[in-house]
Order: sequence, then structure tokens, then C-alpha cells
Amino acid sequence: MTTKQTVEHEEEWVEPYRTKVVERIHLPSRAERERLLREANYSIVFLNSADVYIDLVTDSGTGAMSDKQWAALMQGDEAYMGSRNFADFEKTVQEITGYDRVIPTHQGRAAERIMMELLVSPGDIVPNNSHFDTTRAHVGKREAVPLDLVGDWLWEFHSDHPFKGNFDLDKLKTCLDRYSDRIPFVAITVLNNMACSSPVSMANIREVSRLAKAAGVPVYFDACRFAENAWFIKQREEGYADRSIDDIVREMFSYGDGCWMSAKKDGIVNIGGFIALRDEALAGRCCELLVLYEGFPSYGGLARRDLAAIAVGLREGMSEEHLSHRIRQVQYLADLFEDCGVRTSRPVGGSGVFVDTEALYPHLTPDRLPTVTLCCDLYLEGGVRAGAIPMDMNVIDEAGEITTRVFQFARFAVPRRVYGKGHLDYVGRVVRRVKENAARSKGYQMVYVPDILPHFFARFAPF
Ligand SMILES: *Cc1c(COP(=O)(O)O)cnc(C)c1O
Repeated sequence: MTTKQTVEHEEEWVEPYRTKVVERIHLPSRAERERLLREANYSIVFLNSADVYIDLVTDSGTGAMSDKQWAALMQGDEAYMGSRNFADFEKTVQEITGYDRVIPTHQGRAAERIMMELLVSPGDIVPNNSHFDTTRAHVGKREAVPLDLVGDWLWEFHSDHPFKGNFDLDKLKTCLDRYSDRIPFVAITVLNNMACSSPVSMANIREVSRLAKAAGVPVYFDACRFAENAWFIKQREEGYADRSIDDIVREMFSYGDGCWMSAKKDGIVNIGGFIALRDEALAGRCCELLVLYEGFPSYGGLARRDLAAIAVGLREGMSEEHLSHRIRQVQYLADLFEDCGVRTSRPVGGSGVFVDTEALYPHLTPDRLPTVTLCCDLYLEGGVRAGAIPMDMNVIDEAGEITTRVFQFARFAVPRRVYGKGHLDYVGRVVRRVKENAARSKGYQMVYVPDILPHFFARFAPF
């Protein structure tokens, strides 16, 4: 039943940090959890964090900053212009990416908004291996089509493809051939926590870049988890075992024209993001919109001290000690789930564990919302919060026709440096109980569906 992927997790592994500050967590009683979930309209989105025991709803902005990051915050130079924090931040991003122009934003979607507004026109098609939900929504808001060209292997939870985030290159070729005049750029998401956090190989990135260049189309990275992706390249791709993460990251970015990033992921900060570009003229236009939406280019919607914390966090997020521990945590949690017969996306990716909810609740038809059911069962059973995210993809067939496909799963995202083995073991026990009682769940229905990003604001009721 279990598909152990590496031997690494058999070895002893220890958190590469110790606790300096603690935050108390509290498990409400079963009766309280029932009431709280009812009051939250059976949407885990509306639960107060104080009522959640273990919170695995997202790894975005939920990491624990280090003593060095907190120290950097205290050294904020809050000058409107010419702050030394900006200079440090700019230099760090330049060194990591190799892109000269660095534009801070308050988070990833602010960067997306600016990039899409400048580059995407109505009727365009934006190819990506897979779009994150806000990226998809921003492309859609420009009346363009976000197209997901990740291979079909993504849908098969147990296929052992080491780089399930890879583009299907045939699909990309079909897309570039048929729609080249409507494509403003190709985006590569490294890596997407809406697509099982599956990594993208260097060979795939290189080839995507070559094909895009041949078609005269620039390449931009959605770089939120670039360090986790580099870790998988080092672990799984031939020829990279002896290369440093810095080196792998530099090679990766060399295949693109720029990137945008939510620093709330591999930057290990609670807020922040940026755009980094080669193209001086495009960067200038970004800065004009930045002043309108975010703030002056020397802080972009953040306090200057936040830039200092990002500069430190980006380096910590790239350390091998951090990455190896983080991915072992994810592996450990996935193994606990598989041990009790819950099917997860394998091999594990970064950031979290992705559970096949249809396999967990085979008796529930899609209209009974198995993903929502799992999230409710988890909370009722043990105060654990996970995410239910339908992935509405636009895919392309061999003839180049665009159709839609929905991919359903539940996501157990692991915040960076927050939980230890005891917490993960507890989540494993809760999932075991959920699995044992799964056949008794009757499912949920949507009682309110908003237009934009429906999974955030929908309300539910039990059948
Ligand atoms: C989080 C994320 C974004 C959006 O960033 P925010 O900081 O949440 O606005 C975009 N793309 C990917 C892949 C992400 O993970």
C-alpha cells in the first residue's frame, strides 16, 4: 500500500532550528468544533485561527521568521527614498536571479496585476505549466485565456514521474504553432501548490525556453517556490546532485526574461513580493503602475523593514539544511497518510501533501463535494484545517482546441519552520480516523457561490 519514495525519510531527521518564542495552540471540544463549523457555514475559510489546532490550510505567509529576520526588521531604514533596506533587497534578488531590475510589491498578486496589465490584452492566450489561482484570475480579468500545459501525468496520483509539474512539450508546440500571434509570454510556475507542488525539471525549463524563443515569445517565471524546485532538481535530475542550490537557481533563471514572486513562500516572510526583469523599458513601465497601485519603487507597498526580512529570508529559504528538512517533513506526512490507506500525490512535491478525495470518498458523487467533506471531517475529527481547492484548468487537445478540466484534491500545506514531528504525527492520527469513518460521510452542497475565486468565499451545508 505505501509507496515510500526515498530512503531519506527512514533516517533520523531533526528540526534544524530550536524554538525561541512559542504560541499556544488550543483544541476546542468536539461539541465546540461542531458549533464552530456550523457557524462558519461549513467553510474552513471562515473558522477563526484561534479555533484551529493544527493549521495546514496554506504555506503562504504562515512561516516562522528566524532570529536573523527579526533582527533585520529592527534595522529598518524607513526613508521613503534611497533606503538601505531596498539596496540590500535589490542586491540579493539580483544575485539570486541574475535579473537587473528589481521591483518590490506587497505580495505576489500585486506583481501579477502589474505584469498582466502591461503584457496581456483581450483575446490573448497565456500558456503556463499550470496557473496559480490568482494568476489565472488576473489573466482572466484581462479577458485572456490562461492555458495549462502541464502533462496528463499530473492527474495520476500514483504515477512516479519525478517532475509532474513539467510542461507537456507537445502541447506547448501545438499551442505555439496555432496561437503564436496571441501569446504575450510563456509563464513557468516553479512550483505550484495548486498542482500538487510538483516540480519542473531543468531539462523541461530549458526546452520550454528554447521553444518560446524560437517563437519570439518571452518567458517569465512565477517563482514562488523556486528554491524547493531547485532542491528537487538536485535530488531527482541527472547531473545536478553535486551542484549548489545557488547555482541551480541561477541556471534556471538564465532561461527566462524575468520573474514575479510571492515572497510569502520561499522568502519565508509573512508579507511581500517582487518583480525582477532584464528588460529596462518594461521595468520602467512596471514602476509607473507600481506608483499608482503599490507605492514608490523603493518599497512597493511594504515597509522598508519588510524588504530587509525578505533579503534574509530568501537566503535562508535556499539553504540546503532548510530545504532538506522541509521536504522530509512533507514526505513524512505523506507516508503517514499512505500508511492508513489515504492516497496522496506521489512522488511528493514541495510545500504540502495532496490527497485524492475521490478515492477517499468513492461513494460521494462530485456534487456532494468530497474535498469540502474532507476538510469538514478533518476539523470535526481533530481541529485540523486543510484546504479544498478545485483546480479549474484550460487544457489543449491534439488539434489545438481549448477545453476545460477540473482537478479535485485536498491540500495539507506545511508552513515553514512552524510544526514539528509531534504535530505531524497528530495529523496522521486524525487522518486515520477520518479514513475509518469516511464511508459514513454524506457530503456537502454549495449554498452560496461567488463569481471570483469561489473556493475562498463559498458557503456550504451538509446533506
Ligand atoms: C502564492 C502564489 C501566488 C500569489 O502570491 P500572493 O503573495 O498570495 O499574492 C502566485 N503564484 C504562486 C505559484 C503562488 O504560490
